[in-house]
Amino acid sequence: MALIVQKFGGTSVGSIERIEQVAEKVKKFRDNGDDIVVVVSAMSGETNRLIDLAKQISEQPVPRELDMMVSTGEQVTIALLAMALIKRGVPAVSYTGNQVRILTDSSFTKARILQIDDRKLRTDLKAGRVVVVAGFQGVDEHGNITTLGRGGSDTTGVALAAALKADECQIYTDVDGVYTTDPRVVPKARRLDKITFEEMLEMASLGSKVLQIRSVEFAGKYNVPLRVLHSFQEGPGTLITIDEEESMEQPIISGIAFNRDEAKLTIRGVPDNPGVAFKILGPISEANIEVDMIVQNIAHDNTTDFTFTVHRNDYLNAMRVLENTAREIGAREVIGDTDIAKVSIVGVGMRSHAGVASRMFGALAKEGINIQMISTSEIKVSVVIEEKYLELAVRALHTAFELDAPARQGE
Ligand code: ADP
Ligand code: ASP
Ligand code: MG
Repeated sequence: MALIVQKFGGTSVGSIERIEQVAEKVKKFRDNGDDIVVVVSAMSGETNRLIDLAKQISEQPVPRELDMMVSTGEQVTIALLAMALIKRGVPAVSYTGNQVRILTDSSFTKARILQIDDRKLRTDLKAGRVVVVAGFQGVDEHGNITTLGRGGSDTTGVALAAALKADECQIYTDVDGVYTTDPRVVPKARRLDKITFEEMLEMASLGSKVLQIRSVEFAGKYNVPLRVLHSFQEGPGTLITIDEEESMEQPIISGIAFNRDEAKLTIRGVPDNPGVAFKILGPISEANIEVDMIVQNIAHDNTTDFTFTVHRNDYLNAMRVLENTAREIGAREVIGDTDIAKVSIVGVGMRSHAGVASRMFGALAKEGINIQMISTSEIKVSVVIEEKYLELAVRALHTAFELDAPARQGE
């Protein structure tokens, strides 16, 4: 008999029929003798719909009230799923994050889980009930409702699994595992049987939205056995593991991640003195804007050009701050570009192979794609390119690093 935490995403609970199907699935596990805690997201599209409502009142809604509202999406699905289970003769009870007491800090819209009170859950499990918990939400020490950021139900699932020392955390979604890249962009993408926490963390933070970054961090930190599976198709899914097998089979690259969420800012003709980077980025960080990639070029006339990327949501703010800085330090001009995308290759196998970056640049050059910025680490190489070439770039790299699935018969 195992204790399993199962998380079902938005499309998996996107209609009454789907919720009934999820109930059937949970019932099967329970009939097998397992203890089950289920975490659900809001019905697909619901969180976006709620955010749109708030934006009709104000372009930048008060974060506390926004959380108060968007947390309702999950409150609907937990109750519907509990009803569907009870209808099938499975004792079940639903709880919001607040009712469990998933304690978070007070950073509305991106709160971090601090502590989970597992007493209620354990009592219910002992009494033979399936516990259905609302994903994506918690409560701060003052009793305010908080949310964990987009995709946050994954983190609720993993955090509950850690608190309950569950045998496995199963993330059920609309794909049958973690792929070499988003299968919706590259039809030849391949499902991975296994991926290391380190690689998954890198993939998630570089844009693969199949798992929220924090859920992977949490699983790695507390060693939660984590698996991504399809909600309604049988299959082994993808196991996220610690071990990094150094076999001959180890591919150099495990996956390709990408995102269109960044924007690029450049300040040109900056007098080149010590402290320049600090003068430019200090005010940006004071404005609470996170910077991702940075490039500095020295010109011949003792000036420098400085380029960095931020989240697109922060673009206008960052532009305002940078224009101020430009005036203060006597820079020539400030330019911005929102039509960019970041493509990254990820793999622990890179550590033992030279020439990975140049192979990447070669593949992009062959397609005539210009690279605007580069950043590397031990297990990834990222480039910024023009957004319109994103899909072409991902497909070219997928082929260049021999990740394409073998063609099926008849193809
Ligand atoms: P859920 O609503 O179940 O949380 P998400 O939409 O958040 O589902 O995540 C699943 C989606 O992640 C898939 O439909 C797929 O398009 C996307 N995705 C992006 N990168 C990958 C990848 N490397 N492997 C699998 N899916 C990926
Ligand atoms: N419903 C939330 C969202 O759409 C949380 C989640 O689905 O994980 O972001
Ligand atoms: Mg998700």
